[in-house]
Amino acid sequence: TTKVMIGMGAGLALGLILNAIGNEAINTHLVGGFFGMAGAMFVNALQMLVVPLVFFSLICGVAGIGDVRILGRVGGKSFGLYLATTATAIAVAILIALLVSPGQGFVMDGVDTSGVTAREAPSVWQTFANIVPKNPVAAFANAEMLQIIFYTIVLGIAVLMLGDRSTPFVDACDYMNALMMKLVDVVMAFAPYGVFFLIAKTFTEQGIGLFVPVLTYVLVLVGALLLHLFGTLMLFLKLFSGLDPFTFMKKIRPAQIFAFSTASSNATIPVTLRCVTERMGARNSVASFTVPFGATINMDGTAIMQGVATVFLANVYGVDLGIGGYLTVIGMAVLASIGTAGVPGVGMIMLTMVLSQVGLPIEGIALILGVDRLMDMIRTAVNITGDAVVSVIVAKTEGQLDMAVYADPQAGLDED
Ligand code: ASP
Repeated sequence: TTKVMIGMGAGLALGLILNAIGNEAINTHLVGGFFGMAGAMFVNALQMLVVPLVFFSLICGVAGIGDVRILGRVGGKSFGLYLATTATAIAVAILIALLVSPGQGFVMDGVDTSGVTAREAPSVWQTFANIVPKNPVAAFANAEMLQIIFYTIVLGIAVLMLGDRSTPFVDACDYMNALMMKLVDVVMAFAPYGVFFLIAKTFTEQGIGLFVPVLTYVLVLVGALLLHLFGTLMLFLKLFSGLDPFTFMKKIRPAQIFAFSTASSNATIPVTLRCVTERMGARNSVASFTVPFGATINMDGTAIMQGVATVFLANVYGVDLGIGGYLTVIGMAVLASIGTAGVPGVGMIMLTMVLSQVGLPIEGIALILGVDRLMDMIRTAVNITGDAVVSVIVAKTEGQLDMAVYADPQAGLDED
């Protein structure tokens, strides 16, 4: 973790310096070219781990739970908690934004609104229908997380039904799971460099100048994100599990750093899974399901961004959405986060659906697009923290959390 933090700090410093110098040759060839390649290699390597890791650890998880009823309970609990945290997140964000009123008196000058088109919102029924894969091979090839989770759970249940005969398969999956975890270690050895290149590139390209015109939006958004991170989520943790929030915050830090650097909950799954199991003591039988499930359907930070952005744009355009409008925004944002993969920038695409639903001009997002990369990094860190909070709550209430590991500050640090 320390090395990764150093990589992040160095990347930030170099990025800001290169941005200030503004040398086009350096920025295009060195930063855009080499740094871009090195950073992309690292993110690709993380993504390379996700599908097989989720498959094998989930098979082991289902086999480990051993009882379909418990599986249903874990599924129901985590789904309910994910919806509850997301709905609370966006409701609080809208309230704060309404109080502060960002975007009031904003002058729309020289904003390029071309090329912004709205996405149709898929119907709720369609979203649920899509969870069942027509072709599991295609689901795995395209990393369709919900479909993969569904297929793997069904397969795991079938394994349980087969009983004794399935043991060699379960043993093989156990071995493959351990192998994948080793592969996570191998990729993690490159983490400080990967993070350095990713952060340096982002900050070279994103000058401070971009933030000035939409400063009120940025400040309200970051404030709401931090409030959710340190306030709401920790309250959920304490209330539902009684676990110590300070220990949690310390132990989740590596996953937050990766989420921040990659802006992808999906790519962060291997790290989140490790933090939750090895550092906090949640058993794989719960975490192997709740972590990838959360990375796919739970996006508290993204919902917060959508709430603040909607209020900001409503103010910019002088539109009063009224209670009904804001309730629609809450409902839309919660639904939109289900079935949308945790990859960079997807929150903005989902925002176009929310805006068109309440009749705000889609072009408005051009105003905030410039600052979205940094906002994406912060909200992704919030997203995966939500996944981890729900995972340990479910593990604790199911008696699947090893308290000795949770309390041990050194747990899971052996290899680092
Ligand atoms: N990048 C976010 C995630 O992966 C999604 C988003 O808000 O764009 O969780």
